[in-house]
Amino acid sequence: MSLSGFIRFLRHSLQRLENSFAGAAGLDRSLGPALAVHGPSLLPQPQHIRDDNSSEPSFLDSIFWMAVPKKRRTIEVNRCRRRNPNKLIKVKTNIEPCLQCGNLKQKHVLCGFCYDKVQRETSLIRKQIQNMEGGPLNAPALESVVLYENETLGDAEKDKRIVERNRKRPSWFIL
Ligand SMILES: [Zn+2]
Repeated sequence: MSLSGFIRFLRHSLQRLENSFAGAAGLDRSLGPALAVHGPSLLPQPQHIRDDNSSEPSFLDSIFWMAVPKKRRTIEVNRCRRRNPNKLIKVKTNIEPCLQCGNLKQKHVLCGFCYDKVQRETSLIRKQIQNMEGGPLNAPALESVVLYENETLGDAEKDKRIVERNRKRPSWFIL
C-alpha cells in the first residue's frame, strides 16, 4: 500500500469512528475524538503525597540525622587549627616569689601556701574554742583573745575570753 493510500485509509477510519461516537452520545459532529498519543511511560509522573496515616512508619524515621563533614581535612589543616596562637596557653609574666614563704605566686594575689597555713591554724583555734564551750549553744557573749606561749595579756584584754595555744606565735599569724 502506498503512502497516499494509507493516509486515505486513516482518514476514512477516523471519520467512521467519529460518526459512531457522535451517534452513540448524541453529540455535535464538531466535537470529535482527538488523536491520543501513546508516549513513553518514563515521563515524569506527578508524585502523589502519601497520607501518613495509611503508610507504615519507616525505620529511617527513628534515626536522628546529624550533619557530618563531607570532606576529610588534611593533617596540616588540622594542625594549623590546633596550634593556632589564639588556642595556645599564654605565657604568664606576672609571677613573683612570695615575700613570706618564697613560693611562686601571681602578683596582686594572696599566696596560696601562706593562706593555707593561716587557715589550718585558725581551724585549730576554732576546734579548741569548741572544746572549751562544749556545744554550739554555750558560746559566751565575750570577745576571744588568742594567747600563744610567752605572751601576756594587755590591760584592754583583761575581761575577754582567753584561748591559749601551746606553741610559739608564728610570724605569719597576726591578729
Ligand atoms: Zn607565701
